[in-house]
Amino acid sequence: MNNAPSSASASIPPPVVSDPPRRLEKQIALVTGSGSGLGREIAIELARAGAAVVINYAHSAKSAEQTASEIRAEGGRALVVQGDVSREADVQAMFRRTCEECGTVDILVNNAGIEQDVAFDEMTLAQWQKVIDVNLTGQFLCAREAVRQFKRRGVRPEISSAAGKIICISSVHEVIPWAGHVNYCASKGGVMLMMKSLAQEVARDRIRVNSIAPGAIRTDINRHAWETPEAMRQLLTMIPYGRIGEPADVGRLAVWLASDQSDYITGTTIFIDGGMVLYPAFSSGKG
Ligand code: NAD
Repeated sequence: MNNAPSSASASIPPPVVSDPPRRLEKQIALVTGSGSGLGREIAIELARAGAAVVINYAHSAKSAEQTASEIRAEGGRALVVQGDVSREADVQAMFRRTCEECGTVDILVNNAGIEQDVAFDEMTLAQWQKVIDVNLTGQFLCAREAVRQFKRRGVRPEISSAAGKIICISSVHEVIPWAGHVNYCASKGGVMLMMKSLAQEVARDRIRVNSIAPGAIRTDINRHAWETPEAMRQLLTMIPYGRIGEPADVGRLAVWLASDQSDYITGTTIFIDGGMVLYPAFSSGKG
């Protein structure tokens, strides 16, 4: 097996990267599950950076329309598309509609995700399967359609140095085990190696694939962990930086990771967690 880069790809010059405020101008971004939480904020930040954004939702059209309205109110472009990411036919229809209405897709943010927390010995197969279906299979189905589109189209140097960018929203739980959440951790651990293997496979097609792994970010998925003072106090014992994350923290990172500013980054997970993965229990220095 010869994995050496071809002479053609070895001679690709590094891009000339500037930092215009609207660095995603003329790009189309599809953000799954963007009617709420991180997806919503990521969609808004991508639009502020100039991308036209496809807002995907599975069940709540109203919240997706709210995200789209907010983007349009700021002068951005947004299209709302229904689709359950765990259903192959929905995902294919969502990409078809995106390409019909917007011409192509340049950026996929695989954000949709769920938790169904239960003790391991009480977990039903349905609870296991549902979380894997949405969090892992959903990311596979969307990434596959995106890669097909990126490969068909190739690089347009005037738009971006890459043929396409995929950002997988993972979690600190791709590396931190979490009792009572075995299905969730298995799904995010799966996302980690799916992302890395895919990044390796499509790098020579100039497709970049990376993950964002949030720690505790203030959204509905973890409301129980921050909504009372006692819960927040407990949570902060796990965050060396001393504050909970806000969705905009993640939105800004997604913009950077989607832009040519990060052109040499692929196959990497960026943790955005205020230091949660730094073993905070050891921070006193005592054994
Ligand atoms: P959220 O519940 O607000 O957002 C999840 C979104 O996914 C919702 O809009 C939901 O409707 C959508 N969704 C669920 N199933 C879907 C499906 N089958 N098809 C399409 N959309 C679907 O929670 P969030 O915190 O914004 O979560 C977003 C992502 O961030 C998830 O992947 C989650 O695992 C990850 N994450 C969040 C945190 C955090 O602290 N908030 C930490 C680590 C990882």
